[in-house]
Amino acid sequence: MTRVDEAYCQSCQYQHIGEPPTKCPRCGGNAWALLTSVATVSVLGGDPPTIVVSQPLARDWYDDARREAGDSSIEARRREILFAVCLAECYLVDWVRDHVANADSATMQRYMGAGDMVRRRWTETPERLAAAGLIRAVPSIDAELRERWDALLTFRNALAHGRTSWPWEVGRLSTISALTLLDLERMGPGAALEVVLRLIRAFHTAGGVALPEWIRRDDCVEQPLVWPKA
Ligand SMILES: [Zn+2]
Repeated sequence: MTRVDEAYCQSCQYQHIGEPPTKCPRCGGNAWALLTSVATVSVLGGDPPTIVVSQPLARDWYDDARREAGDSSIEARRREILFAVCLAECYLVDWVRDHVANADSATMQRYMGAGDMVRRRWTETPERLAAAGLIRAVPSIDAELRERWDALLTFRNALAHGRTSWPWEVGRLSTISALTLLDLERMGPGAALEVVLRLIRAFHTAGGVALPEWIRRDDCVEQPLVWPKA
């Protein structure tokens, strides 16, 4: 169980450090927003102040994908695909929040779009950031990386949405976009993570901004993509 570092009363914004009591000592309310060690808190002006909470998870997804990339089993590929795409999803959100929007949700929406899917975001958000002069240029994604990124998203969606559990007729597989165990076996350990790391590196190189310190040194340079074409 994750340790609660602090709590805020949902009614009066009373701040309590550590596990909160049942009732708020200020207003008697019993609904708390619980913050863990991964949460960041911004307290904006006003009376009572507006408290904005966010939980940056890109680093955690990176650690998860990196761990699975060290395992050559098919089961590890399944998890690495999910974790790598989660890294891609959270990475842009974390970056825009920390470097552009701070705690302002309207600014978040301006660059991330509302309810945008990760595929569109990795195209449109860098364009919006570059147009606003917040990064130097739009990252250039070559055809191979674009193809692998599309395939990775197809695989992730097949795994996450149960497409892989649908019955399918042998010999007619090409007529549906299913992911088979063969596809997972073909993808080498670390390939899914490397696709996402290439996106992130391209974003930072084109944008003229440094990579975060938590990316391992050997992940800062291009690695071979162990993912032969079908
Ligand atoms: Zn209260």
